[in-house]
Amino acid sequence: MEIYRLSAIDIKEGILKGDFKVKEVVEAYLKRIEETEKKIDALLFVNSEQALKQAEEMDKKGPDPEKKLWGVPVVVKDVLTTRDIKTTCASKMLENFVPFYDSEVVKRLKESGAIIIAKSNMDEFAMGSSTENSAFKITKNPWDLTRVPGGSSGGSAASTAAYQCPVSIGTDTGGSIRQPAAFCGVVGLKPTYGRVSRFGLIAYGSSLDQAGPITRSAKDAALVLSVIAGKDPKDSTSSSEPVPDYLALIDNFKDLKGVKIALPKEYWEYELDKDIDKKSKEFFELLKSLGAELVSISLPHTKYAVATYYIIVMAEASSNLARYDGVRYGYRAKDVKELIKMYTKSRSEGFGFEVQRRIILGTYVLSAGYYDAYYKKAAQVRRLIRDDFLSAFNSCDVILTPVSPILPFRLKEKIEDPLQMYLADIFSCGLNLSGLPGLSFPIGLGEREKLPVGVQFIAPPFKEEVLLGIYNKVEKELTPLPEPYGLVS
Ligand code: GLN
Repeated sequence: MEIYRLSAIDIKEGILKGDFKVKEVVEAYLKRIEETEKKIDALLFVNSEQALKQAEEMDKKGPDPEKKLWGVPVVVKDVLTTRDIKTTCASKMLENFVPFYDSEVVKRLKESGAIIIAKSNMDEFAMGSSTENSAFKITKNPWDLTRVPGGSSGGSAASTAAYQCPVSIGTDTGGSIRQPAAFCGVVGLKPTYGRVSRFGLIAYGSSLDQAGPITRSAKDAALVLSVIAGKDPKDSTSSSEPVPDYLALIDNFKDLKGVKIALPKEYWEYELDKDIDKKSKEFFELLKSLGAELVSISLPHTKYAVATYYIIVMAEASSNLARYDGVRYGYRAKDVKELIKMYTKSRSEGFGFEVQRRIILGTYVLSAGYYDAYYKKAAQVRRLIRDDFLSAFNSCDVILTPVSPILPFRLKEKIEDPLQMYLADIFSCGLNLSGLPGLSFPIGLGEREKLPVGVQFIAPPFKEEVLLGIYNKVEKELTPLPEPYGLVS
């Protein structure tokens, strides 16, 4: 098998056994990137030089079996700071920002022997569901180059799906790991809020943002999570909950007999794309045949999730993005003599349209006259949504839902209609509001459109091993997806 098709686990194994060198791994991926990037435009920067240099140094030293990701190339979403590598958030505002420090996620990846091979495209400041809000390029879905890869981590998901890397890192504020993973036919894990440090994750909605792995298998996701999870004194919201050995735990997970999987009726009775509906029903049968018990539940506040999410996330975004004023950092407009004009012009020119829309709406919901009616009310409803989930877990192990009501849509199809785009987050954002972990994974290709269909498992806080353990069993029973059609020439 070509090196670039291997899993992260097999890459490390192969290097330890002496089957190939780190340098060969990096070269294989760089070549693959060169071949596929013209088609999908998933990356903003390819770190060829540094990656090759690091590989040579690692080969000189020899493999270190203690390092969990020794020699594994990783693509990182361009919202996570990387020392000496430009970090743009796909925004003109940060077009020339070269951080002098690594985000905690990147630091931990590097310490475990991973190689940062590229930075991936995204919606500007992670705002969007299609990656079309990038100031720099439009990423295409590897399954159909006329469609979006999802967003905002569309570059990361497309890159993993196209075998440009075994593992990429995305971030998820309202669905941005899970939805693009579903659109591209790969596995996306959004950890519990606080499981992974947000230090160096350029803030969008601070009470919602979490970074997590996008992989092609449950095991790779477990391995990467065990590297990036854990308390970080630099992020006071990171949790000191001990980090288990996820890989060992999911290996110990015996079978699905007696596992209770809940199907929320508000999600499954929603109008779903026919392919998603049909594939999901087949999947229910598979789960039952493996011994799982499927129960119906109600999450009554589901209908408020999108409105609540967008009020809270825009409020937080408007506050977080206030720092880009052209003085302390970011783009500065030319030829303005007066301070206020300089702020206004820098922000008008530096931010794209969607980001400006959100700053305006966020400022509005936080303003003195409207705070109680919008922000405060949303904060209250947020608690009700979380309570729905937590009480559901009294009677089940995991909840199973669709990731998105729609399949990957065509490029430009929804960009003029932001409300439609927001509404499609209905199944993903409730989980972020509740701080819960979720795992999105492919269950096959739709019959009509031949596009990947993904569903997600949701677990109680800090129960990532349950999500991964169940999926690891199911994965073996699902037909593996073929080579993404957009890449077969
Ligand atoms: N689509 C959602 C939004 O635009 C989610 C984005 C995300 O998770 N970063 O806010």
